[in-house]
Order: sequence, then C-alpha cells, then structure tokens
Amino acid sequence: MTTVLIIGAGGVGQVVAHKCAQNADTFTRIVLASRREEKCRAIARQVKEKYAITVETAEVDADNVQATAALIRAVNPKLVVNVALPYQDLSIMDACLETGVHYLDTANYEPPDTARFEYKWQWAYQDRFADAGLMALLGSGFDPGATNMFTAYLAKHQFDEIHTLDIIDVNGGDHGYPFATNFNPEINIREVTAECRHWEDGQFVTTPAMSLKQSFACPEDVGTYNIYRMYHEELESLTRHYPSLRRAQFWMSFGDSYLKHLEVLGNVGMTGIEPINYEGRDIVPIQFLKALLPDPASLGPRTHGKTCIGCVVTGLREGKPHRAYLYNICDHQQCYGEVSSQAISYTTGVPAMIGAKLMATEQWLRPGVWNIEQLDPDPFMQEMQHSGLPWTVVENPTFDLL
Ligand code: NDP
Repeated sequence: MTTVLIIGAGGVGQVVAHKCAQNADTFTRIVLASRREEKCRAIARQVKEKYAITVETAEVDADNVQATAALIRAVNPKLVVNVALPYQDLSIMDACLETGVHYLDTANYEPPDTARFEYKWQWAYQDRFADAGLMALLGSGFDPGATNMFTAYLAKHQFDEIHTLDIIDVNGGDHGYPFATNFNPEINIREVTAECRHWEDGQFVTTPAMSLKQSFACPEDVGTYNIYRMYHEELESLTRHYPSLRRAQFWMSFGDSYLKHLEVLGNVGMTGIEPINYEGRDIVPIQFLKALLPDPASLGPRTHGKTCIGCVVTGLREGKPHRAYLYNICDHQQCYGEVSSQAISYTTGVPAMIGAKLMATEQWLRPGVWNIEQLDPDPFMQEMQHSGLPWTVVENPTFDLL
C-alpha cells in the first residue's frame, strides 16, 4: 500500500501520473499537486478515462517549504516524486525532511539567478537524510537517470574497469515548428547555452558552447544526426562515482533551424536571465520567451520520429580493451498513443516511476542522498524492458567517435 505524491503537472508529471496508474498494484493512491490545480485535474481526467483510476489533485507552491510540508502532512505519502522545476528541489527536500517522507527527482538543483547546475547543494543534505532514515534519490529521469543506469549496468556486466564514456542523446523527432523546446523552455535554453564542460584526465575542461560537433548514425534506421558536445549534469556524479573514467563527454543532437533561432535569440538578448525593466515592470527575457513558445506538453500530437539515447563505454574486460554501446529507441507517436505525451516527457517520466517503484517496494530503499548510479542497476534495467523503454547492448560497435 503506497501513497505517492507527485509534484509538478507539466509534460513529465503527466507521464508519471499515467505510469503510476499503470502500476496501481504498487501505487495504491496517487496524488498530483502543482502550482495550478486545473492542470492536475486535466491529467486526472485522462488517467480516469484510460485506466479507471482516480488521481487526487491539489494546489501547492513548492517554493514555499511550509505550504509543501502542510500538503505532505495532509496527503501522508510514502514518497514525493518531484517533477516540478529544478528551482524547487531544495524546498521540496526540506519539506520531506520536515515531514519524514522519502524524495525523488529528475534534475539537479539550479539557483534561479545563476545558470549553473551542480550537485553540491543537494549532496549537502546527505547527513540530514541519513540521520532521519530517509532516502533522496537524485536524477531518476532519462539523462540523468537511465543514462547513469546504462553506465552502471555496463560497468557491472561488461567491464572490469571503465575508461571512457560518451553519452549520446539524439532526438530525431520533428514537431513542425521552426523553434520549440521539448521540455521546459527556460531550463532547456539555460542548459544548451551554458559553456561546455567535459571530463578529461581527472578534471573538467571548459570549451565554448556548441564548439565541437560530429555526425552520428543511430542504430535501427533512426537516422544520421549532427551531435554537439555539451555539459550535462550526470557527468559530475558519474565521474565522481567511477574514478577510473579518463574521459567523459555528453553529446546532443540539434537541428539547424533550432540552432539558428537560438543564436539569433541569444544575440538579441532574449535568452538572458537578468531582469530588464520594461515600461516600469521587471521582465526576465527568457521567461518572456517561454510565454511565447509552444508548451512542450502540446507537442505530443504533432511530433513524429524517434529518440535514440545511449552510452558508449570503453575499458578493460579480462585484461583486454573492450567497447560496448547500450541504447534505447523511443517513438514519439507510440508514446503519444499510450500516455498523450511526446517521447522526451515519456523517457523522463518512465524512469521517474521506476525509481519510485523501486523505493516503494523497498528494493532500493536506503537512507541518505544518492545519485541513481549508486544503486544496483539490475532491477531498474529489468523494469525498463517492460515499462515502455526496452534497451539493447551492442558489443564492440564499429562506429568511430571523436
Ligand atoms: P514543465 O514546465 O512542463 O512542468 C513543470 C511543472 O511544475 C508545471 O506544471 C509547473 O506549473 C510546475 N511548477 C513550477 N513551479 C512550481 C512551483 N513553485 N510549485 C508547484 N509547481 C510548480 O516541465 P517538464 O515537465 O518538461 O519538466 C519537469 C522536470 O523534469 C524539470 O525539472 C526538468 O528539468 C526535468 N526533466 C528531466 C529530464 C531528464 O531526462 N532527467 C528531461 C526533461 C525534463 P505551471 O504549469 O503552473 O507552470
């Protein structure tokens, strides 16, 4: 009997609600809360229609620790799944500590006024969660999340020691808009305009954003795409937890139209995070831009094509050099058919549900603050196979990478 409280009724929250309803034997009561309850109610209606399961709804400002704690007390869940924005991570963790409830998220804390995401703020909660006998699971989305599990799974089953890691995130989906983001536009643009950092010989090396690209041919006819090296948060935890890594890089695909628009928007100041005064009112340019762009949750019906996200790892197996590629392919329209969302929300929401399920069933329950790769990857990888995100391992793939 597990009550789960999901906070955040955006694209990802919608998928988590559907997937928890599909696992109603584990999640016997589902409560969805967000800044606007009407968004929760719309999702609850979908879930009711599809599975005849009731999702209870509530309104909460998760920036407010007391309000969030009061909601948690009223709902009395076993755990909170935080799929609001990274800005709310610390306030929700504080509310969980105050009420004695486990915590899970999919993105690390980011201070609203600095476009830099780091784990240090959340790692600082280690002792408080451990002392309270509570678990905080960090980064249970796709990247971070599944990509950390792919790395952990390969390290466990394919290698004695891992030396290089390339995470390759290709979105071959087309929504037909000249410019739109697949998840929260503010978070997405802050991420892709940040300087690139990759791990090389024991330290992070900084290079200008989008300054290195290569072409990548995805398996199973997903297509060939330009992928760009960029910083992504899982590099910080993976290089810490796999000290044998000599190099770790993250690559993401971008279309020419997306990059052209982003460059122009950046040049005219529309991606800025500093408030500007317009006719007596302070406006943050990137937040105004978000209001103009399509809501990521609305892209579902019009996005066609597939995502292909995976990890290429090299290292030693039985003393000899070895290389392996573990990937998942996800079809936007199939996701839409199942949960009324496109694949980016789907690939994030499914691992969030899986992490929550492994905590709820106590296969993973362990006091403290943990990045997902610190847990045993096997039950997670097993769940992925039959939760809509099947994966494949290719040993010694023949493609070349920079
Ligand atoms: P959305 O913007 O679609 O949804 C965020 C939701 O949180 C919205 O419903 C929003 O409310 C709500 N919210 C925002 N602020 C508050 C607040 N103060 N109190 C309560 N609710 C609040 O984002 P996504 O669903 O695309 O992303 C959700 C999370 O998932 C983000 O943290 C994102 O970084 C992460 N993510 C992780 C990925 C991964 O692979 N690890 C990939 C994609 C996303 P409102 O509707 O009123 O704005």
